[in-house]
Amino acid sequence: MKLTTEKNVLIVGGGLGGLSAAIHLRLAGFAVSVYEANARVGGRANLIERDGFRFDTGPSLLNYPWVFEQLFAAAGRNLHDYVKLLPVEPSVSFQWEDGTRFTLSSDLRKFLEECERLEPGSRPAVLAFMRDAEAKYRIAFEKMVSRNVDNPVRWLGALGASELRRTSIWRSLDGQLRRYFKSRHLREALGSYAMYLGGSPYTLPGMFTILSYGEMAYGLWLPEGGIYGLVRGITKLAVELGIEIHTNRPVRQIVTEAGRVTGLELHDGTFHASSLVVSNVDVPTTDTSLVNADARVSASLRRKAERTRMTPGVVTFYWGVRGEVGNLGHHTIFLPDDYRAAFDDLMKGGRIPRGLPFYVSVPSATDRALAPAGDTAVFVLVPVPVLSELPGTDWDAAVTDVRARVLATLARHDIELTAERIRFEEVYTPVEWRRRFGLYDGSAFGAAHNLLQLGPLRSKNFSKEIAGLYYAGASTTPGTGMPMVVLGGRQVAERIVSHAR
Ligand SMILES: Cc1cc2nc3c(=O)[nH]c(=O)nc-3n(C[C@H](O)[C@H](O)[C@H](O)COP(=O)(O)OP(=O)(O)OC[C@H]3O[C@@H](n4cnc5c(N)ncnc54)[C@H](O)[C@@H]3O)c2cc1C
Repeated sequence: MKLTTEKNVLIVGGGLGGLSAAIHLRLAGFAVSVYEANARVGGRANLIERDGFRFDTGPSLLNYPWVFEQLFAAAGRNLHDYVKLLPVEPSVSFQWEDGTRFTLSSDLRKFLEECERLEPGSRPAVLAFMRDAEAKYRIAFEKMVSRNVDNPVRWLGALGASELRRTSIWRSLDGQLRRYFKSRHLREALGSYAMYLGGSPYTLPGMFTILSYGEMAYGLWLPEGGIYGLVRGITKLAVELGIEIHTNRPVRQIVTEAGRVTGLELHDGTFHASSLVVSNVDVPTTDTSLVNADARVSASLRRKAERTRMTPGVVTFYWGVRGEVGNLGHHTIFLPDDYRAAFDDLMKGGRIPRGLPFYVSVPSATDRALAPAGDTAVFVLVPVPVLSELPGTDWDAAVTDVRARVLATLARHDIELTAERIRFEEVYTPVEWRRRFGLYDGSAFGAAHNLLQLGPLRSKNFSKEIAGLYYAGASTTPGTGMPMVVLGGRQVAERIVSHAR
């Protein structure tokens, strides 16, 4: 997809989707400049460095490494010359209030043993589940999420009848898991991924068994230096290709005239002209806070933003802990007794769940350099509803309450992590996530992935209202998560090239 003349494209935001779009556009022959509001690119995948500890602010589970390999291969490079990936094995452990534990592994034999322990005799069902999820994964990546398709009929029409049945998009994720597993613990563990997609296993499509499958089939990884090591590698590639990256340069508005983009106005008052702009800022934030358009278009963009269903927010804790923390692996998900009620609280009830599900990561368990010798870097992620569902929340009080509940749960699981051992703490509430990165309504993962926000029904990567305005990132196609936004970066570049022809 190479152009013959050099046109310039301006990119608002240097998150992973923006960087991927920049690389693919540069490879297609565009001159590309990225304007990033913060001191560092990476967006949600950012970095906190303090007292010899290094924390990734957002993503901590890296899967589908092939997506990143493809990004570098597109530029004739090898990912592994830029980023060293360390395997995380076993991958994720789940712990319930009743003391049950379950650990995922990319070693099928160990996975079968774990399932057998929770559900004796489950081996044939587990193998059938894996075969089914593998087929779903292949269909999803070969036919559903890897290209721009705007028409739902063409999208599903690309699948044969048996492939369409195989997607299980009409069945819930929980319904799909019930076909294979009797153990509630197995179903809850494999269904818990729904939280990050903005739904519950009872509402999101059965297709999403591909998440747990993908993690097992392709493994979980930690780049050396943490997830930010990956951001650094991608940034290095972008700079080598001649992409201009300007940090500490917040964009005030995307300027339009007569329904067309004309350029960017920065907070420092400078204007940068271009007829092509890619916004990597959350789509609804872009449409409601950055696009400067006439009253009719602005009203239409606002209505579209208000209709968008978002994934939950998160409260994230970054703890520099004195000494080692026993009994806690790299990735652990703690699930409450009343799992369904937690989803209801989050998605429908507008309250911080009474039984708190949460995730704890100890990246220094895999890369010792992320904490001072003998100490431990601990990251805790607690999902909470989006800000509009929690009006008037006193976040200081909420953080105090959530911290106490997390520590109490850890203590019940014999994990010796008391408040006294925390040398320092940083906390991001959804308000902070919104302020730092422009996350709409404080939603952590962008637009939700319910049936009406999938594929061609999801907010598209180009604006129908404003010519020359494009989107990259978690709230547009194909969706959220590091691999997805990197795939999306290629797709928006392909879109721009096809429009330019
Ligand atoms: C807490 C948390 C945990 C997560 N865990 C995982 C995980 O384990 N695995 C996984 O794969 N994914 C995870 N995700 C999701 C993943 O981080 C995101 O899907 C992905 O990083 C989003 O990338 P993006 O391209 O949408 O850009 P963003 O990260 O949203 O970046 C947008 C950029 O735009 C910049 N910006 C905003 N406003 C302006 C402006 N006015 N001018 C200039 N720049 C601006 C921001 O500063 C930011 O750098 C997690 C997300 C969060 C928040």
